[in-house]
Amino acid sequence: MSNKQPIKFILFTTCIIFYAALSAAQSNAPLSPTQLEIQNTLLAADDLKISDPEAFQEHLDKLKILSPQATPAQKEFIEYFELYQWIVAGDYNTAQNEYERFFEELSDTEVKIRTKATLANMSAISREYNQALIHLDYIISQVEDHPDKVIRSKINFVTANVYYLLDIYEMSQKYAQLVIHDELNDIYLCKASAIYLAAAFKDQQAVEQERLHQTIELCKNSNQTGYAMLLTLNWIQSEFEQSIERNDTANINVLKKLLQDQERLINATESKNLIGLKEMLLARIHFALGDDTLAQGHALLAIEGSNKTGNTLQVVESLHVLNQLALKSNDFKLAYEYMSQKSQVENEIYTDSKAKQMAYMSIKHNNLAKQLEIEQLNQSNQVLSLENQLTAETAKKQQLMLLLIFSLLMLLIVWTFKIKKRHDYFKHVSEIDHLTQVFTRKAFEEKTAEMLKACESKQKPLNVAIMDLDLFKNVNDQYGHLVGDWVLRQVILCCEEVIDQDILLARLGGEEFGLVSPGISELEMVALLEKMRAAIAQMDCSGSGAEFNITASFGLSSALSSGYHLPVLLTHADLALFEAKNRGRNQIVVYSQLKKLEVASSAVG
Ligand code: GH3
Ligand code: MG
Ligand code: MG
Repeated sequence: MSNKQPIKFILFTTCIIFYAALSAAQSNAPLSPTQLEIQNTLLAADDLKISDPEAFQEHLDKLKILSPQATPAQKEFIEYFELYQWIVAGDYNTAQNEYERFFEELSDTEVKIRTKATLANMSAISREYNQALIHLDYIISQVEDHPDKVIRSKINFVTANVYYLLDIYEMSQKYAQLVIHDELNDIYLCKASAIYLAAAFKDQQAVEQERLHQTIELCKNSNQTGYAMLLTLNWIQSEFEQSIERNDTANINVLKKLLQDQERLINATESKNLIGLKEMLLARIHFALGDDTLAQGHALLAIEGSNKTGNTLQVVESLHVLNQLALKSNDFKLAYEYMSQKSQVENEIYTDSKAKQMAYMSIKHNNLAKQLEIEQLNQSNQVLSLENQLTAETAKKQQLMLLLIFSLLMLLIVWTFKIKKRHDYFKHVSEIDHLTQVFTRKAFEEKTAEMLKACESKQKPLNVAIMDLDLFKNVNDQYGHLVGDWVLRQVILCCEEVIDQDILLARLGGEEFGLVSPGISELEMVALLEKMRAAIAQMDCSGSGAEFNITASFGLSSALSSGYHLPVLLTHADLALFEAKNRGRNQIVVYSQLKKLEVASSAVG
């Protein structure tokens, strides 16, 4: 394979990317005059790369000098060109290694895409199909949703072209269709349609004649002679195959004429590939028409040209013609030689096409595996997010539950508190007399019973006294009930002031009060009652609004003499009280002493 043809191919595809990249770079921040100059020099250098390597070198030298003022993207483009010299020199190995390294250091997306496109082309040419497809994958992933129609179209076209080169016609057509759909301009419409139709021919699909001729016209009008010729040759070839089948010599003559008419244009493209294809077709046509000498000449030209491009399909067809010619002239040795050459090339084609297929399948398989992996990851992510959702919901539920329990607990506490308060209130109401704030009769009985029990077990003294206000009815009658109430309260306050013992005071009813003193002797109790009596007698009642005096009588009984039974003690205290009233009120009568007197008087009697 000669060096020049692959270079052309690489240049052809990379140029497209370059222009797209440059236009993208231009659309960014405004460039300084030097940067604009760099921009123009870059474009010019790109044009000159293939046609005038010397001029290209001059431009590159200029770019290297201007490089310090270049934008970061321009700097990367300049370096891209510097590396391009390896391709120009035909050292693909170094070029490939250098571009691989260069790619890792790049930051500009467009230069990255362009570098990958170059790598894809180089890999395809050096028959590293796997590598070519991997590079292509990168380009596609970068360009798929590119917002810039220009870049998107141009790169989609490169992709269509590389797929075409790799005999992956379906994909080639898919990307060509994307370019056609974007309708960038006539040139791209021509190129993409031409690739689409060329792929259709190679894939032996039915090609719409009208579309084919329209595309040929479009390509001619937009100065894309190469593409126009490629389609013309493909069409002539397919027409020729059909004519051969039909044995339509007349049509074969028409095709020969057509081909000869186009010969000048085909030669002008300087494309070894197209020229080789034309030569092969002419060889076949001449052979079909019986012009053996011409057929042989064109076949040899086709083989010679194809040897340079590596286009083996043309070689196979040409070798077939030569083999047939040798057979015709009974040169079996030569026929055998062409035959074996042909099968060798066919073998090469087969191996190569198998390699392309394998590469494609393996990349496709890898992509599919990657896709599956992504899907699986997505699924497990979904499961995870569902789990998280569930956990969050459970946590929420638990929080709600806790809140509910807490609210219920609070409610219970408040309720309990209220009940206790109510209970306390009722207890208070039932235990405390609301007028005098001393214990009620009920509380008096309960507490005295407890005290009696405690004192009885230890045989401790316990005194029970009843205090009754003297002639209290008169107070009510004379000054009214309110004054009577006031007196009742004042008497109690007065008593509480003098009480210096642990004593139980209760209102037994009306103006009658009970007093219980556990732990003190009868004598001590009498002394206490005496203090109370004196205090009441001296009480100043003017605060009631009236002037009067109040006195109280006391009857006292003691457990030590009467026993530890409340009813008995109360009865005895009551009897003593009765006696106090009888004796003229305002005094204390002790039941035990009353008893002693009784005993004494009965003894005297
Ligand atoms: P004695 O000296 O014999 O005890 O005469 P007394 O008037 O105190 O006796 P009596 O038992 O006949 O009268 C008790 C009076 O106490 C009758 C009632 O009007 C009065 N009284 C009872 N409870 C209350 C009360 O809560 N408030 C008022 N203001 N008076 C009451
Ligand atoms: Mg009374
Ligand atoms: Mg009374």
